[in-house]
This record gives sequence, C-alpha cells and structure tokens, in this order.
Amino acid sequence: MGSLLEHLVEITGHRDHDLLDISVMTALLNMVGVTEARVMELFQSRGELFVRPRVWISGGKVQTVDEESSSDHAGEPIVSFPALVTCIAQRKNRLEEAREDGRHILWIPIWQNDKVSTCLEIAHTQPFTAQMLQVMEGILSVYRNYQSLLDYSERDSLTGLLNRKTFDEKFARMLNSKQAEPASHDVEDRRHHADVKSQWLAVIDIDHFKRVNDTFGHLYGDEVLILVANILRTSFRAQDRVFRFGGEEFVVLLRSATLADAQMVFERFRSNIEQNPFPQVGQITVSIGFASISQETPVVILGHADQALYYAKDHGRNQVCYYDELLALGLLHVGKKTESVEFFFDEPTAG
Ligand code: GH3
Ligand code: MG
Ligand code: MG
Repeated sequence: MGSLLEHLVEITGHRDHDLLDISVMTALLNMVGVTEARVMELFQSRGELFVRPRVWISGGKVQTVDEESSSDHAGEPIVSFPALVTCIAQRKNRLEEAREDGRHILWIPIWQNDKVSTCLEIAHTQPFTAQMLQVMEGILSVYRNYQSLLDYSERDSLTGLLNRKTFDEKFARMLNSKQAEPASHDVEDRRHHADVKSQWLAVIDIDHFKRVNDTFGHLYGDEVLILVANILRTSFRAQDRVFRFGGEEFVVLLRSATLADAQMVFERFRSNIEQNPFPQVGQITVSIGFASISQETPVVILGHADQALYYAKDHGRNQVCYYDELLALGLLHVGKKTESVEFFFDEPTAG
C-alpha cells in the first residue's frame, strides 16, 4: 500500500503531461511488473489519424522523446494498429490482443468525454491476470482524471487551444533547450541560407475584429474565434504548436522548417481564412508577423514577430510579414519599441 501511495503522490505531483506520462509508466513498471509499454499520442494530420509514442518502457527503463527538439515525429497511421482502431470504434475502455509471436497486447484508450487523444499499449508475455488488470485500472483512473485536470489548466476554454500560460512555459523551455545546443547557425547565417531548418514564431491577429463584435454581436464574435481556431488546428503540422494568446490574437510555434516553408504555411493559413465563408459574418482576414526563433530572449523574439505584425497592420492588413526581411529592406529598425502588446514573463525570484 505504501508503494501505491508513493506512486499516487508522484503521479499527481506534476504540472506537465510528459512528467505525468513518465510517472504512470514507472508505476506500471514497479507495481504490475510490466516490461514493455508505450504512451501513444493520437493526432490528425491532413485529415488522417496518426499514432506516435510519447513515453515508453523498454529494457526495464522508462524512456521519452525529446519533445522540445526539432526532429519530426511523423508517427504511424492508426490503421497500422487494427486492434486499437476496433477498440476505439467500439468505445471500449480496453481490448486485449493476442499476437502471433505469443505476446499479449492490452490497448487502453484514455477517454476524455467522447474523445481519445492518448492511449496506452501494454505488452505481456502471457495473458493478463485479473489482479494485474485491477491494479492497472486503479493507476489508469488516477491518470485519466489527472490528465483532464492538466488539460483544463493548459487550454483556453472557448477555443480549446493551448493558452497563454502554456505558451510562456513551452516557449521558455524551447529556448532553454535551444541554448543548450551548439550554436551552429547564428541569426546572420540564417538570413542568408534559405534552406536551413529553423524554428519560427508567428503572431496572428484578426483584422478589424471589433467590427465583427459591433456589427453582429459578441456571440458571433466568439463563433468566429472558434472557427479560426479550427482552421489553425488543421493548417499546421502535429509537431507545431498553436496557442490563443489573448482576445483575437494567436501564436504559432513552427518547428523544423525552412524560411520558404514557413512563408508558405503562414501564407496558406492567411489565404484559408480569407477564403473561408464565416456564417453570417462573411469574410474575415488576418495579419501575420513572424520571426525566427533565435538565441534571443522570449521578449525579444515576440517583439520581432509583433513588430512585423504591426507593420502588416499599418500597410493594408491581410498579409504575412517577416521581421528579418523588413529589417533587411530598411522598413523596420532594430530596437523599435512596440506598444501594442505587453509581454509578461516571470523573472526568477531570488531565494
Ligand atoms: P486590427 O485590425 O487593428 O487588429 O483591429 P481590431 O478591431 O481587430 O483590433 P482591436 O485590438 O482594437 O480589437 C480587438 C477586439 O477583440 C476587441 C475586443 O472586443 C475583441 N475581443 C477580445 N476577446 C474577445 C472574445 O473572447 N470574444 C469576442 N467576441 N471578442 C473579443
Ligand atoms: Mg488584437
Ligand atoms: Mg485585431
């Protein structure tokens, strides 16, 4: 029992999905004697459903992908796992699959309302005993509940996108892990080599959104925000991250893309919005400013994207502007202060 309590404390002691996954895998390893298991993430990409491992047990050790690294985690189409497809289609809480190699695989989708975005794959050399299933069910109930709590605190309630607080945390972490890398390409380098893969930050702001509220009312305004969020979700890859930054402003972190790719995907998103018929409201447009994620501080990088955004606003809206390009063309100047957005980043406190 002591061990169960210790694991409970460990599982609920985290404010982070990755650490939560790791502690659940550790509990399965220690309490059930599982030697092979994976926490899998389900995600949509270009209309298809994919699965990729986030944390797994292998050789008696818990391992995890480096979420902040820029590598592409392409994943596998969910159809490669027919038992999982059946389990989800039949809305089951678990399904045991006997493989030809003699192993038994237990699929456990983590249902949140009627959706699944995480599932567990647990392998065993023999059929799972009733006692194993009972202990696992206990661990997984805690996991399920705690995951909904984490989701609730990480996401914006109107659009379901990641919220501002999560952006601050993820962006700071991304920059910290970047600083740990050898600086093989500095900012100057990137300006001249369009084929270098880099990370990008875009700030997206709906044009004349006040007019939508004033003309159609706040409820229609909210509906537009939800629809824009849906288009955002389908316009970027699974390894990119989309946040509602505040009001009618969104931030996208684009990973591992060349400048040409970044320009192309932001432009495609801008065009998707322009061409989308919004019920009652009709056409809306967005302005986008983006900057490369350099070794600078979060405030400076956001400031760059924000300066590019306000350049786009001042020069006709409904366009994508790139900070370094505006700088190179002499249209913006380094160090120009923007007053339109305030940035809040917690400074580490002494003591
Ligand atoms: P610009 O093209 O310069 O961005 O013009 P704008 O009218 O979009 O800009 P402004 O920042 O002046 O207005 C943003 C408006 O967004 C003001 C506020 O009423 C509205 N807004 C902010 N959050 C919400 C929300 O959650 N729901 C709705 N319906 N409106 C919101
Ligand atoms: Mg705004
Ligand atoms: Mg606006």
